[in-house]
Amino acid sequence: MKLSARIEALPLEEPFVIARETTTEAEVVWIELEHNGERGYGEADPIDRYDETAESALAYLEEVESSLGNDPFALEEIFALLPDREYAARAALDAALHDLCGKLTGLPVWRYLGLRRAGPPTSWTIGLGDPDEMAGKAERANDFRSLKLKLGGRDGRDLERVEAVRTVWPGLIRVDVNEYWTLDEALDSIPQLGELGVDYVEQPLPAGDPAGAELKRRSPLPIFVDEDCHTLRDVAACAERAHGINIKLAKSGGIREAIRMAHTARALGLGVMLGCMVESGLGIAAGASIASLCDHVDLDGNLLIAADPWPGVELVDGVQLPSSSPGLGVRQEVPSPR
Ligand code: MG
Repeated sequence: MKLSARIEALPLEEPFVIARETTTEAEVVWIELEHNGERGYGEADPIDRYDETAESALAYLEEVESSLGNDPFALEEIFALLPDREYAARAALDAALHDLCGKLTGLPVWRYLGLRRAGPPTSWTIGLGDPDEMAGKAERANDFRSLKLKLGGRDGRDLERVEAVRTVWPGLIRVDVNEYWTLDEALDSIPQLGELGVDYVEQPLPAGDPAGAELKRRSPLPIFVDEDCHTLRDVAACAERAHGINIKLAKSGGIREAIRMAHTARALGLGVMLGCMVESGLGIAAGASIASLCDHVDLDGNLLIAADPWPGVELVDGVQLPSSSPGLGVRQEVPSPR
């Protein structure tokens, strides 16, 4: 198989603010795998939080190109040979191989995996801002059935943010604190969030915080962990500190590892959420292919960017539906002249 890869910038529709950073543009890596005249595509969405960048993903892809062999269906064998790091790059390879296998068999990836096409509705993420600003964005979120509010402002106004949104939004609300509360703040805020009808709280405490087990025991709302749950090897420890895990393909290393994480979580009695980074429809298509395995879905990355260069995933009644075309079913709209 022949691999080509390049870095691309995805400018956002508007700056996206979370507790630890503001993003105006996401740097991703697009890859193409060619085999017998057919082409599979994948996207790497590297996560700073885990010290991965577009450059480190590209370097990994260049390093492993010669180890890919010539059988795109040999997924287990291929990944067993690759160094266990650079999970966004691995996710891009995994996506491109699934795209290729889908095209070679004439099946959409979700069907080739034996899964249903439709999963739960996606949340629409509202970045951290002033309460009024967040409520204004909630009022414009007509295409969605649930909201995910970014909290962790460390200004004493997190509850006010949720209250402001609740006055204009009757539907589901989830919150994501991105590790920015202490145990005391969490124990003080979560009961009040419960009264506001919040569904669950994502990553209130820093990853690995020793108070995680106590918060799980005392929280009246389910706790889902994201930063705490990087790959399969983290899932068992998450059962001690959370009621559910947030799986992202860019963290897990792709579809196959994400499926293993989902089943491991189930075995441990944990809920399963599927998240994403700021990514194009190419990345989102891979996530949408396994969304039906999950309880909660947050796959809005391609809707946060100014223009999706890889259309094919359709937002229908709040659900990010993968295409019914073979493979991932997305096609690059404007081929880059480079
Ligand atoms: Mg999160």
